[in-house]
Amino acid sequence: MKTGHVALCLLPFVLVALLVAAFAAPPEPLGENAPNDVFSAGRAMAHVRGLTSTGKPHPAAHYDGSARTPEEIADHDRARDWVMSSLRNLGLEPVIQKGNACGRFTCADVENVVARWDVGSPGPALVLMAHYDSTPFGPGAADDGAGVATLLETVRALKAGPPPKRPLIIVIDDGEEMGLLGARVLMKDHPWLNEMELFLNFEARGTSGQVAMFETSSGNGALIDTFASSVKRPVASSVIYTLYKRLPNDTDLSIVKQAGKQGLNFAFADHVYNYHTAKDTETELNLGSLQHMGDQSLALSRAFLTAESLPKPTSDSAYFDLFSLVLVHYPENVSGALALLGAILALVGMGSALRKKRTSIGRLALAMAVVLGSLVVGAITGVGLGALLKGAVPKLGNGAVGNAGDDGRSSCVYPVACHCVHGSCGITRICSLALSAR
Ligand SMILES: [Zn+2]
Repeated sequence: MKTGHVALCLLPFVLVALLVAAFAAPPEPLGENAPNDVFSAGRAMAHVRGLTSTGKPHPAAHYDGSARTPEEIADHDRARDWVMSSLRNLGLEPVIQKGNACGRFTCADVENVVARWDVGSPGPALVLMAHYDSTPFGPGAADDGAGVATLLETVRALKAGPPPKRPLIIVIDDGEEMGLLGARVLMKDHPWLNEMELFLNFEARGTSGQVAMFETSSGNGALIDTFASSVKRPVASSVIYTLYKRLPNDTDLSIVKQAGKQGLNFAFADHVYNYHTAKDTETELNLGSLQHMGDQSLALSRAFLTAESLPKPTSDSAYFDLFSLVLVHYPENVSGALALLGAILALVGMGSALRKKRTSIGRLALAMAVVLGSLVVGAITGVGLGALLKGAVPKLGNGAVGNAGDDGRSSCVYPVACHCVHGSCGITRICSLALSAR
């Protein structure tokens, strides 16, 4: 092959890489003086500070079921009280739902904070969800202080905007880190359960990066339509969700979906080395990531609260974002037709090249073997590298590699393997959180 041809082949990859890099950063955060009806990371940050004021963990329990220290209990209750008083300051009347549940690690008593904003007609409600408990390893400024702050600032901005047509329920639950305990208690017998129709859940697996919408309930066509039309900087891919469904990873949204409810799940996942460590602090949390989370929370809440009705499950969509600028989406069954069209075009191209004697069957077979081989080598390298890192760095402050309940796959192996399979750093970011969120 001539050098010019090689350059021409490489050009699209270089261009795509440059575009991905150019649009990889989260948006500029807005300060405390931003207009009342917009989301401001500066204002939301006050809640992150309030939740993590002592800089210490505030877990609902310990992974091994051992007793919490008096300091942990006091910090947990302080975080719960911050949530309660913040909701009261917004003019709501929060209530605590107490209960006991058992999850993947242990059983524990939890205290969910639940509130509602009753406006418009009664009927199916939109639910915003995040968790206020942290792991026993760090203060959880991002996981899930960012989610809680997002909810509180979203409600404040909603109240300054157009009036909603239906109720909004706010769930800031407890014990997520111990095996989704708060969500289990909520979905078992909360008195408002029948009204809770559509959930937006906010999580973090790191302290920085763009916020990806990495999971949906099934029959997501109408949800994706609204997501595409209302979110300004979408980061999402149905390929990643398809992969996520096949893996044993969970957030509160798993319990919500098991109860037959609809939902969308959001998280950021850069600087994963801070995840579940003492470094998940206010100073490490990227304000731009908080802004991106809040922008999406507010835009979607407005869209769902002011629509004539909440979407019902329909058929699934295939979707992906183009450099966070726009979400391309179409019915999933169109994917098969597109794949078939691609295969036909490839065969026609190969047939034409063979006829004109520009290549040989041997060379075509070699080219295909290189493509398939690179996937296999990439996956093997990813798994090997992850195992090596896990062996070499058994504990990074209980965090990045090998924290409690994390066998190292999530932090190292899968992102690398995904990178090899999909060959795109943008997808790798969504991949790393989709494959590992808990
Ligand atoms: Zn979390």
